[in-house]
Parts: sequence; C-alpha cells; structure tokens
Amino acid sequence: MGEILDRLDWSNMAKDEMIWDLSQLVESTDPVSVQKKLDSMVTEAEKIRSKYHGKISGLDSKDLLEILKLKDSFILRFDGALLYCRLMYSANSTDATAKQLNDAADGAMVRVGQALIFIDLELGGLLVNKPSLTADPVLGEYRHYLERISRRVPHMLSETEERLVISKDKNGINAWQTLQSDWLSTRTFELIVKGKKIMLPYGRIVGYYQNPNRDLRKRSNQAVYEGLGKDELVWASAIRSVCEDHVRMCELRKHPSPMNQSLIDNDVDQQTVDGLMRAIAKHVALYQKYLRLKAKLMGIPKLANYDVVAPLPKAPETNYAWTEARKEVVNAYMEFDKEIGGWVDEMYERRHIDGEVRKGKASGAFCAPWLSGKSAYVLQSFNAKMGDVYAQAHELGHAVHDYLASRAQNPSNCETGSCIAETGSIFGELLLTERLLSKAKTTEERQAILATVLDEFGMAAFQVSARVFFEQSMYDAIKHGKFLDGETVAKLWVAARNKIYGDSVEWLDAMKWEWTMKLHYYLANYRFYNYPYVFAQLFVFALYRLYKEQGKSFVPKLKGLLAAGSSKSPRELASDLGYKITEETFWEKGMKQADEFINILEETVRPKQKPKPRH
Ligand SMILES: [Zn+2]
Repeated sequence: MGEILDRLDWSNMAKDEMIWDLSQLVESTDPVSVQKKLDSMVTEAEKIRSKYHGKISGLDSKDLLEILKLKDSFILRFDGALLYCRLMYSANSTDATAKQLNDAADGAMVRVGQALIFIDLELGGLLVNKPSLTADPVLGEYRHYLERISRRVPHMLSETEERLVISKDKNGINAWQTLQSDWLSTRTFELIVKGKKIMLPYGRIVGYYQNPNRDLRKRSNQAVYEGLGKDELVWASAIRSVCEDHVRMCELRKHPSPMNQSLIDNDVDQQTVDGLMRAIAKHVALYQKYLRLKAKLMGIPKLANYDVVAPLPKAPETNYAWTEARKEVVNAYMEFDKEIGGWVDEMYERRHIDGEVRKGKASGAFCAPWLSGKSAYVLQSFNAKMGDVYAQAHELGHAVHDYLASRAQNPSNCETGSCIAETGSIFGELLLTERLLSKAKTTEERQAILATVLDEFGMAAFQVSARVFFEQSMYDAIKHGKFLDGETVAKLWVAARNKIYGDSVEWLDAMKWEWTMKLHYYLANYRFYNYPYVFAQLFVFALYRLYKEQGKSFVPKLKGLLAAGSSKSPRELASDLGYKITEETFWEKGMKQADEFINILEETVRPKQKPKPRH
C-alpha cells in the first residue's frame, strides 16, 4: 500500500480543482451543438418507435434481445449530453445558457418518454403470454430486468382505468399532498433568540434543532410542534385520505398487503422485510444503550428528544482544506482496495467533483452516474467541516458503485433500487471513520467521530423503524374500521415511537404531533418509503462486520456485489455472500458492528483504573 500512497502528490492544488469539468461529457460545449445532440436523440427515439411499436407482443427471444440491446445503446449514446445539461444547471441555476439547456433536456426527455413508453407496456403483455422468456438463456443478461417487469404486470389495470386513475389522482391524493406541503411551508413560528422575539418559517426554525444551546433546541421544538398540533384537522384529513385511498387502490390492483407495491418497487419480498423488522424489534435495547451513553457524554441524566442527534458539547471544530479532505477520503478507500482508491482519486484528478460554494448552486450533495463514461460526477458545497468530508466519502462511494456497475452491466441493469443503492456510500463512510479514528489525537475528537456515526445509524436503523411500525399501524387501524382523527393518529405514532425508545428518552408532550410534518407520509403513490433506509443501514453495517472478520478476502465479494448493479435482487446478492437475508443471523452481524462502536465509545468515558498504592 505504501508505494501507491507515496506516489500521490497532494501539493500544487489550485482552487479550480474544486470546480468540475463538464466538457468531457460532450463532443463540443457549444450550446448549438448540444441542442443538436438533444434533437437527434428525439429523432432516434421516434425511429425506434416506428420500427417496433405494436410488434413486441409477437417477438421471440432473439428479436427481444435485439430491442433490449437497442434501448441500452440508445441510453449510452445520449447520456453524456443529457448529463451535461442537468449538471450545468445544478451547478449554476442562474446561468442563462444552463437554464436554456436544462429546459431543452426536459423537453427532449418528455418526447423520448412518450415515444418509448410502449416498450415496457408491450413487454409486460409479452411476458404475461410467454412467462418462460424470463428463464430463456438467450436473454440471460436481462433475466432479472424481465423478472422485475413481470412482477408488476398482475397489478396493472386496463389502459382506460390507468388513465382514469391518473386524472382523478390529480385533484385527489396529489392535492392532499400539495396541501400538506403548502400548509407546512407557510406556517411561521415564534422564537426568542438572544432576548429578541423573531418569527420564523418552518424551513428556518428547524435549523435550531442542532444548535449547541440546549434551551434553544428545546424551545424551537416546542414552538414547532405546539404550532403544528393546532392544525391537527388539516394533517389528519390529509394523512387519512392518502392512506384510505391506498387501501382502496390495493384492493383494485389485487395487492395482498399495503406494503406490496413498495416491495415490488424495491425489489424485495415480505419475508425479507419481516426478518429485518424482527431484528430491529429484538435489538432496541442496543440503541437505548447508546442513547443512555450519549446522555452521560452530554452530562445530563437522560436525553430529551431534542438531544438525540444534537452535537456533543465538547466536540472539537476541526477544519479540513480541500486537499486534506481528498487525502483522507482517497486513503480511506485505498486502504480497502487499490483499484477502488485509484478510481476515487481519479474523480478528483479528472475534476469530476464540484465542491465550490457558490450562489445558484443546488443544495445538498449528490452523485450522478455517467454510464457511457464508466464514471460519475459529484456535487457538494464544501465548507471544510468534518460533515463535508463525510459527505464527500459518501458521494464517492456512490461513484465507486457506478465505476463497478457500469463496467460489468448494461444500462438496464444499472437501476439499483433503494435497498442496495446506498451500499457503496455508507460503506465508504465507515472506511473514513476507521481512518479518522486511527488518526484522532484527543478523546473528544474520537467521541465526536463515533457519535456522528452512531447518531446516523440510530436514526436510519431505529428511528426510521418507528415510522415503519407507525405506517403499518395506520393500515391495521383502517382495516379494523377505526376513524383516523388527529388524536388517534398521534396515539399510533407515540406507540410506535415508544416501541423503539422505551424510557431512554424524555419527550415533550407536543412531540406526539411529529408525524404531521413528515412529507413522505403524504406522498401520493409512494407508501412505505421508510424500510429501505433501515435495510441499507443495517445491510452495510453487516457487510462491514464481515470485512472486519474476513479481512482482505472480503474485498472481491464487496466489489462483486457492487458490480452486479440491479442484475440481481438484494436477496440473491446476500446469498452470494453465503447469507439468507430472510433470517435474523445476517442482520445480527450489523447489530454486532454497532455494538462494537458503542463499546469503543464507552471506553472513552470509563474512568481509568488507578494503579493500586504500594505498601
Ligand atoms: Zn447516498
């Protein structure tokens, strides 16, 4: 490892290294030439339509392979130009050319979508008539892609009905969703800061939840949830209508359970999710142990709800220059595997990362795959904080996933579902944790790193599980004919929450209204958004545990898993590693890893044993 690290030259880094170079995505950056490319994409899609429309239902496996290959090569031909328009706009939405190209890309994609929608629809029909096609060796490369389409078919309505549903949803559940988000974003809340009374919109007051001042955290939570509770009628009407509509649609679409639609979307099955949620329910004491330890670190007898993810009072403010961040992130990956470390370094070297903070730039961070370039582009606003280094490690983990999948798979197999999509990214965060811990100079620094990792683990694995239990309990209540008014929904939420937290946290009374602000519960046609987060977090902790147990022999296994893209289901991927994902033993590996982090953290607060006095 040593030689490779030494060859990397960390000096001579200029400011423009923080700005990405998008010119690699297109033959020419001249907007006229990019527009021409978009136009030719639409023409090409229409050619495919006129050649194959209405003909798929009669195809044999060889002809079907031809059209699937054609669709994939179409994606590879135009993804660079599309990405160029999208990324240019997200990096600077105030730039007139960027805006114009992004609009042009939107328009072109609508036309391509309309031209090619027939492929999946006709393919569904073909697979109903010839289900054996999914197992045809000629179509081996597309086996799981076809299986996923087959799984949707039995729940589709007739074309007339589907169109009716879409038109009724517009003023039905979509309107409830719009009302919830509009209502939330137009509320204002009163808060006293430094002796001054201020009125804040929802988007601003939530910034105080992470404030180092405990009293301010408490008062901001109180102001928000007491305020939201006053509108319980609005929230309850919205959540009840969205859930009841879903129950009726499940009956019409013949889904065996309210969760089934999401199981298909996430490429998992009921047994897998049941095993996962059983593992969570069985290990709530582990999370509670961490929360009690965190109270000790904060110097309080018990955490209140506004302390759960608050920063530790003594957390040091370490700043990282861009070059230092690069060094830590690249080396974290390099220590795991040289090839992966090399790709991560290439992301910086070829300037595929946009880190500069500027006006008009999209907020947050993301990684966009560039399939035809077998690479990716990452956007973030780098503010030199530890959280920014973690965000960089996270997004570059997505990039590693893209490097591996785009080399091994066709584009149809690069549509990784939400249970697996976070594997490279969360794993990368753990690799960074390992490196930062080994370099930390003070106890406070080690505590801050471990608390960051465990806070995230606790939220994604356990807090989100409370939301799974809550959502399920609403459907159970509807099934038993209960009317979901505000107080009833609040009771269901408190019961689900307490199942996870027990008596380890003190809740403000107003926190019973916590469900009112969660956009996801109101999203039309998107139920059970939650368990994939639980899955992803625990899955990666389990993988990391296996790495710790198996050492270097685990490296090719992880690379194989990432390289599989969406060509296999999560269940198959785990089975390749020798695990049955439906059994709790696999998930327990993840719990064990969390327990180890908690124990290391506990060590830091245990008083050192004094040497016995000698006589
Ligand atoms: Zn991510």
